[in-house]
Amino acid sequence: MSPSKAAAKQGERRSEKELKSAGLKATGPRMRILELFEDALVNGPNRHLTAEDVYKQLVAEEFDVGLATVYRVLSQFESAGLIVRRYFGNDRATYEMDDGSHHDHIVCTRCGRVEEFVDEEIERRQREIAHRLGFELEDHALSLYGICEECRKKEKARRT
Ligand SMILES: [Zn+2]
Ligand SMILES: [Zn+2]
Repeated sequence: MSPSKAAAKQGERRSEKELKSAGLKATGPRMRILELFEDALVNGPNRHLTAEDVYKQLVAEEFDVGLATVYRVLSQFESAGLIVRRYFGNDRATYEMDDGSHHDHIVCTRCGRVEEFVDEEIERRQREIAHRLGFELEDHALSLYGICEECRKKEKARRT
């Protein structure tokens, strides 16, 4: 490897590499948006982000981007298979890193908190139902809606 190439490689951020291999130019906002999803995947209790969540974070970090740009980048990431889009019972799309594994969701209708779960029994029953109806199952999206423990505590405190 030539010295200049080695230097370039050393200076390259992981997000930069990922964007390039997805065929996208590694601009500052694109790199930061991808990193937000990657951080959320590793650390965050909430790895499900709306465009507004992403936008607010970038503005807080003093990036000069508009909400329209954020929407455009998210849809580019989605097309490139970096993130997946989910709808949780409202008109705002939620995005999360596409780690290639399947899971279902339960969503708090008060605070919007999202938890993930996989239940083999539910998975199996869905395949059986599809089979019974003459389908071979390709995919499914299951979202449960309810009120999380924290929100229930808050509501209880308010009532007493
Ligand atoms: Zn809640
Ligand atoms: Zn999820």
